[in-house]
Parts: sequence; C-alpha cells; structure tokens
Amino acid sequence: MTAIQKALVVGAGIGGLTAAVALRRQGIAVDLVEIKPVLTVYGVGIIQPNNTLRALDQIGLARACVEAGQAFPGWRIHDAAGNVLMNAPSTSEAAPAYPPNNGITRPKLHAILTDAATAAGAALRFGVTIDQFEEGASGVDVRFTNGESGRYDLIVACDGLNSDVRRRLFGDAYEPQFTGQGVWRYNLPRPADLEWAALFVAPDSKAGLVPLSPTLMYMLLVTTEPGNPSMKGLQMADEMRRRLGSYTGLIGQLKPLIVESDAVVYRPMESTLLPSPWMKGRVVVIGDAAHTTTPHLAQGAAMAIEDAVLIGELMGRDAPLPALLDEFMTRRFARSKFVVDSSRQIGVWEMEEWAGIHNPAANPGGLLHTATLALMAAY
Ligand SMILES: Cc1cc2nc3c(=O)[nH]c(=O)nc-3n(C[C@H](O)[C@H](O)[C@H](O)COP(=O)(O)OP(=O)(O)OC[C@H]3O[C@@H](n4cnc5c(N)ncnc54)[C@H](O)[C@@H]3O)c2cc1C
Repeated sequence: MTAIQKALVVGAGIGGLTAAVALRRQGIAVDLVEIKPVLTVYGVGIIQPNNTLRALDQIGLARACVEAGQAFPGWRIHDAAGNVLMNAPSTSEAAPAYPPNNGITRPKLHAILTDAATAAGAALRFGVTIDQFEEGASGVDVRFTNGESGRYDLIVACDGLNSDVRRRLFGDAYEPQFTGQGVWRYNLPRPADLEWAALFVAPDSKAGLVPLSPTLMYMLLVTTEPGNPSMKGLQMADEMRRRLGSYTGLIGQLKPLIVESDAVVYRPMESTLLPSPWMKGRVVVIGDAAHTTTPHLAQGAAMAIEDAVLIGELMGRDAPLPALLDEFMTRRFARSKFVVDSSRQIGVWEMEEWAGIHNPAANPGGLLHTATLALMAAY
C-alpha cells in the first residue's frame, strides 16, 4: 500500500505539474488547483541541464522534452566583441542517455507536463485555489475558493516564489529578496551554426544565446539594477538594447532585432531559502516556494522537478508519512541550499567585478563548473 491515497497539489507550474505526474504514477489520486483561470507562461526558454533530464526520465518525460527542444553540448565563452575565449563543455554524468543540456520553450515544456498530468488522471482545476485548510487526525480538510471542499492525506504546495501556502505555514520571514541583478530575455531566430550555447562577457554585464529549437534561440542579458527599478511603462526593447551598449560582434549584430517591447521578458533576480523542514503536518512546500534561486546555474526548475519526482517516489512507499517527509528533507535541503548559495555567490562576484572591485577570491566560472558537476551526483 502507498503512504497516502489522495493528494492536493497547489500550483500548475513546473513543480506542480511534475508532482501531479509523479504521484499519479504511484496510483495516488491527485487534485491540482491553479489560481490562474487559464495557464499562461511567458514565451522564452528554459535550460534543462542533464540532472533535470535524469529527474524527468524517472517519470518518463525526458525524451519528449529533448524531442521538443534543442540539445547543446555546453557553453562557448566569448568577449564582448564576440572573440572566442574558451569552450566549457557540460556533462551527461547524471543521465548518460541524454544530452548535457536541453533548451526548450516554456510553452512546449508546459504542454508536455500538462498533457502528461491529464493523461495520468490528475484532476486539474484552473481559476481555483485554497480558501482555508485545517488538519485533523486523518487528513487535511480543504475549502476551495469556488465553494467546493475535499479531504486529503497530503497537500503539496508548488505555488511559486510568492507562495501563499508558505506564508500561511511559516509567516512572511522568507519572502524572496532582490539580489541586485536583473535578467533580460528575448527570443530570436537561431543562426544555423549556433550549436553551443554562447556567453559573452562585457565589463559591466554578461549576455548569452541559448538554442531552443533548430530555428529559435533566446538572448539573455544579466545586468546590475541598483535599487530594483520599476520598469513599468518603459519601452522594454529600448531598455534592453541600451544595456547591450558595450557589445559588438554577434550580439551587436543581433541588437537591432530587439524591437518588440512586449516580447522582452525582464525579471529582477530574487532569492530565498526556507529553513528545514519545509512542512507542517500534512502540508509540504516544494519548488520555488521553498527555494527561489537566481538563474546563474540554470537550476531553479531542475530543483522543483527533482523535489516533485522525489515526493512521488517516496509517497509510493508503504511507510509512515512523517518518516517519508523526513527522508524528503534529508535528500533535498542541502542540495537546494547549495544551488541557492552558489547561484547567489556567482551573482555577488559578478556585481563586484562589474563595479570595478577586485576580489582575488572571486571565481564565478570555476564555481559554475564545479557546482554543475556536483549536481550530477545522485541525491
Ligand atoms: C525568466 C526566467 C527564466 C528561468 N530560466 C530557467 C532555466 O533556464 N532553467 C531552470 O532550471 N530554471 C529557470 N528558471 C526558474 C524556474 O522557472 C523556476 O525555478 C520554476 O518555474 C519553479 O517551479 P515552481 O513550480 O516551483 O513554480 P512556478 O513554475 O512559478 O509555478 C507556480 C504556479 O503556482 C501558481 N500559483 C501561485 N499562487 C497560487 C495559489 N495561491 N494557488 C494556486 N496556484 C498558485 C502560479 O500561477 C504558477 O502556475 C527561470 C525563471 C525565470 C523567471
């Protein structure tokens, strides 16, 4: 018998949909509620390093992601003029049957996850969330915002970085904090010869190109944004182009193609880590809600997916729920903390360098390399 029979998943993002699939694979009944009436995701891409593909393979979805995306072997590092400085190959150590990295658009990833959750028999409801929940001896009683109610053995909260469930359980001490940097993204046609992802290092920022399909890529730009300025009402295409001022070469050539302000995806970088344990009783918080990371290691979604797959695996066991949740924390906390801390450290070093501060201890490239390798280890 499985540890639980019925679960409620909160949030139809990357973690929530993955959790729904992972729990259904164990035969556990799953209701999933998503606050948005219609699931919309911004159009830019997501990088799936090899450990993400390992986790997705455990629930049978890695192959679909690779087929819908664009594999790439690693990162080619350039200066701001586009001269190649070095190649930084990535590894397939976690899942040798899969490429070191896969770039995929968010709409395609969400379609794969939503279709899989629905096909697996999860009941997805949109425009609905938790109104109240109360834990009793044999389950959590939930009243939903649409007036319906239900009793569950476990609530898995994957409601993202501004998690309402985290706030209800742990208060507002763990809200994500702005780290000082922002990231800009824009989709562009992919040049046929862009086989590797490309990074371009300027004195005040870094830019990159990530393949997403045979014909599509996205440009990323990481900048320091003192004071976390509001971008409301600004022409975002102009803002992004202006911040690309120090780039010539390929990035300089692509710059004039950034014209549609609505297609620019800008996000201030934020970070938080909920201390262990991420649960109270039968309610567990996972994904960005428990650990929001800056994107320096491209591991945010990876960590949400690993959390969700492990929750499914553990809940399929015939063992007491508290012991399984303890095991979940043992296997997830240090790893997630490592991602949050390492990503944040890379950002701090970048900001120092871009401000002209020489820190002899700084080694962002080295940390990126060793951290990515470390994350290939089993957990
Ligand atoms: C622009 C950008 C680029 C990124 N690129 C990468 C990358 O390349 N690689 C990578 O690994 N990670 C990347 N990340 C991080 C990654 O997107 C997140 O780590 C990941 O989406 C976390 O999944 P999640 O399910 O925890 O949260 P989300 O995917 O944010 O999903 C949360 C869901 O919960 C819903 N929700 C919120 N509140 C409620 C509520 N009260 N009730 C019900 N539903 C609710 C939301 O509407 C949403 O659908 C990127 C993030 C951003 C912003």
